Amino acid sequence: MTTTADTTPYQLLIGERWLPAEAGSSYVSDNPYSGQGWATVPDGGAPDVDRAVAAARAALDGPWGAMTGFQRAALMRRLATVIARDARELAEIETRDNGKLLRETLGQVEYLPAWLDYFAGVADKLQGEVIPSDRSNFLIYTRHEPVGVVGAIVPWNSPLLLLMWKLAPALAAGCVLVVKPSDYTPVSTLELGRRILEAGFPPGVFNVVTGRGPAVGEALVAHPGVDHIAFTGSTRVGKAVAREAAANLTRTSLELGGKSAQLVFEDADLEAAANGVIAGIFAATGQTCIAGSRLLVHESRHDELVQLLCDRAASIALGDPLDPATEMGPLANAGQLRTVTGFVERAISDGATLACGGGQSLGDGPLFFQPTILTDVRADMEIAREEVFGPVLAVQRFASDAQAIELANGTEYGLAAGVWTRELSRGHRVAHRLRAGTVWVNSYRVVAPNVPFGGVGSSGWGRESGLESVRSFTETKAIWIELDGLTRDPFRMG
Ligand code: NAD
Repeated sequence: MTTTADTTPYQLLIGERWLPAEAGSSYVSDNPYSGQGWATVPDGGAPDVDRAVAAARAALDGPWGAMTGFQRAALMRRLATVIARDARELAEIETRDNGKLLRETLGQVEYLPAWLDYFAGVADKLQGEVIPSDRSNFLIYTRHEPVGVVGAIVPWNSPLLLLMWKLAPALAAGCVLVVKPSDYTPVSTLELGRRILEAGFPPGVFNVVTGRGPAVGEALVAHPGVDHIAFTGSTRVGKAVAREAAANLTRTSLELGGKSAQLVFEDADLEAAANGVIAGIFAATGQTCIAGSRLLVHESRHDELVQLLCDRAASIALGDPLDPATEMGPLANAGQLRTVTGFVERAISDGATLACGGGQSLGDGPLFFQPTILTDVRADMEIAREEVFGPVLAVQRFASDAQAIELANGTEYGLAAGVWTRELSRGHRVAHRLRAGTVWVNSYRVVAPNVPFGGVGSSGWGRESGLESVRSFTETKAIWIELDGLTRDPFRMG
């Protein structure tokens, strides 16, 4: 059993101070690969959220609020350099916390500076406009002002990347943040906080409150001093966040779960499609919101593709996520293992056929699950409708383009989709009809700072990345200047 003496101690970041939780409690964060605790972090609560929101507000009303977009951009570029310098260290921390491959976490952390650079380029261009007036005695213009204090709530699967999708546009807009990382992956966010201070951001621009269970998140969402909640996580919690935030009319953006489909048409390059399907569902051990967890394949190519996928699945190297040769790491925690196992058992009892995998891979460690493919899945089965968040692919056949689209759109989710075809016009046609925030054609799982990302339906609302995401962290103010010193009838509008 791990004692706190064996672990690295961390504190909350509030303003520029590193503090214990006001209640004095802490908990140990485990490494899912070794099963050992490795870091001790404060188990924060509502009083810590209060302190963090106050620190954030002080920065907004003080030095940060007084900075120009040019000054904010300079700090963001400096932070990009610091992160690039420490990318490996930050990636190793993420892997230690969530068990994802170092290959994956390093790729993500090395990409973070691109978000800061891109949005630094926007920070000094947030210009309003002069609106031509219908009255000659008015000058009217708009300003895009920061929405204020942003509460950022982040899941465990890609902690820094998903935080950066909020952080970079929010900083560009001039906002301040209180961040609540996942209970399972608190450390990289605290380490990012250290680097934000090193880069020279004023204290209070970035605050971190860690804690176990929903307490910190709930306190943040209910806090009247928070102006916008930027949430990434499950649909269940996202709905609770939206309900709670509505009580204060706090604005929300919600990046939620998915049940994304990959559609493989009869003319597809099957090798490329198989590679894309593997990338969609087995990369990151399937623990990604954009997991391509449903394969819809034309009936004429079904058997061939399933065979290709099972052959490739059998050769996936499971093992230590820090080992560069490893292709699939463990699930992130014991709860995930129970969830994934339950989904597969219920799918089989619902009538699905196990084409390969199907259970734990105990030889690799306690939290490993085999890459699993289920065929003969019907649209009404739980496995075709619910997010598993693990390495489990549900395969369905289709006979026509129309049926493929109907099946793809047949869940409550709408985050992403993949289309595999050699026919250009079909690629466009199908992409237009899919109910999803992102569609990749002959590719899968590609993101970039300048491309909007988000979902429809139960996958949430709002877009992160892309120019429009900065606007979501601003309020537009209209300013009317009377030019002629005229008085007017006080009982008549306009
Ligand atoms: P989760 O919903 O359990 O937790 C997300 C975050 O919310 C955590 O920090 C958690 O502590 C906090 N939280 C829990 N209860 C809360 C409450 N009542 N009020 C406020 N905050 C609360 O999700 P998870 O298990 O950490 O992550 C996996 C889920 O995230 C999956 O459903 C996945 O699809 C989704 N996800 C979505 C995206 C996206 O961009 N759409 C990206 C990654 C993950």
